[in-house]
Amino acid sequence: MGNIRVRFAPSPTGVLHLGGARSAIYNWLFARAEGGKFLLRIEDTDAQRSKSEYVEQIYKSLRWLGLDWDDEPVFQSKRMDAYQESVQKMVDDGSAYYCFCTPEELEERRKASGDYSYDGKCRSLSKTEIDANLKAEKSAAVRFKIETGTTEWIDRVYGTIKVNHREIDDFVIQRSNGFPTYQLAVVVDDIFMRISHVIRGEDHISNTPKQILLYKALGAAIPEFAHLPLLNGTDGKRLSKRHGATGVDEYRDQGYPTEAVFNYLAILGWVPKDGNEILNPDDLIKRFNLDDIARKSAIFDLKKFDWVSNEHIKKTDPEEIYRHILPILVENDLVDAEPDSTMRQYILKFIDLMRNRFRTYQQFGELGSYFFKDPETYEEKAVRKNWKDREVNRRMETFLAKLKALEDFTGTTIETVVRELAEELEISAGNLIHPVRLAVSGFSVGPGIFELLEVLGKETVLRRVHTALHKLPLID
Ligand code: GLU
Repeated sequence: MGNIRVRFAPSPTGVLHLGGARSAIYNWLFARAEGGKFLLRIEDTDAQRSKSEYVEQIYKSLRWLGLDWDDEPVFQSKRMDAYQESVQKMVDDGSAYYCFCTPEELEERRKASGDYSYDGKCRSLSKTEIDANLKAEKSAAVRFKIETGTTEWIDRVYGTIKVNHREIDDFVIQRSNGFPTYQLAVVVDDIFMRISHVIRGEDHISNTPKQILLYKALGAAIPEFAHLPLLNGTDGKRLSKRHGATGVDEYRDQGYPTEAVFNYLAILGWVPKDGNEILNPDDLIKRFNLDDIARKSAIFDLKKFDWVSNEHIKKTDPEEIYRHILPILVENDLVDAEPDSTMRQYILKFIDLMRNRFRTYQQFGELGSYFFKDPETYEEKAVRKNWKDREVNRRMETFLAKLKALEDFTGTTIETVVRELAEELEISAGNLIHPVRLAVSGFSVGPGIFELLEVLGKETVLRRVHTALHKLPLID
């Protein structure tokens, strides 16, 4: 297949969004799977909207995702000469022509005819007329000349796409201010970067026939194209802010692990043949096949994303989770920036106990805060259900006394106490377990209660149950 060279070509007019990140991931996976090159191009010809902060931010997001690129990024703003040279070449050989129509004239004629495509007025100007206009410094755009016929390509995702040239007008390739249009710059750069496969969003399908014609006019080999179906929300509408966070950085800041974001975006619209959906970049590289990408639009489903993320957290080495969550615990004032070895061991036990339950690193600091400080609030519904009267107090007082007497405070010994006491009081174990969970965590659900009590430790458990005995029995 020759040398595989692909590119990701963001416009630095905003942060990296999920859709862009997904295009970047597919390009990267393809390059890595085929031993090719993954290149970066910054499409910054729109001087007004492009910002260098966004370039930096896009780099940062790509790095965070682990998408390393080969070679130095190409900046379109530095390639003006190349664009002008290509335009000149096409003007010289007659595949493009100067257009002197002013925006007002165009608007007037469009209104009169009701047809918004260019009417070809300047196509037939004589050499003398053109020279005179240029000499008079009349402002001139350059348009590409569309001949009758059809253009067809085999899209790696959508299959054969055929477009009749009647649907394409003589589009502008160079604006009257000398700037190239998107269509031109992309093609000139893809030729320059020797791009073999253009993998990009489906919103570019309508640009592809125009670009193929430009390749031909410039005498260059046409790359293969793979257009990626767009991302939709669960309501079937195009993914937008209405559906929640759309920027990669927002998910990073919410504490989603890199591998989870990478994994979920990679399997949106493409599921490996073996059905295994929880995969690291290396597994994905091994399984990736451009031809397996589904044509239907991909649904971004936060619930599924959370599931993927939780699966990754479950698999992650506790030491690595530790590295990720320590700054979060510190930031939430739960631990010191340099925990001693006892605290470190405690945090590792906390990770071991809780990792199955969390989908983000932030949750360790939020939902897991009771491992480090006494609960300040208690789930209201759970209080009503599990600590509804003084009867609970009486039981919990007996329970507390038994726990106090326990010398060896382990999951097993605590469980024995609970079972024996339940039998003695002729109640179910749940009548002790639910209130004690509420007392120590403030929540109605959590990890296995006996392990939890062991990890929290005797002192903490006694103190919290004691506090709850005063705070909770509100109804009687
Ligand atoms: N800069 C374009 C965009 O952000 C990508 C162009 C392309 O991939 O051909 O949509």
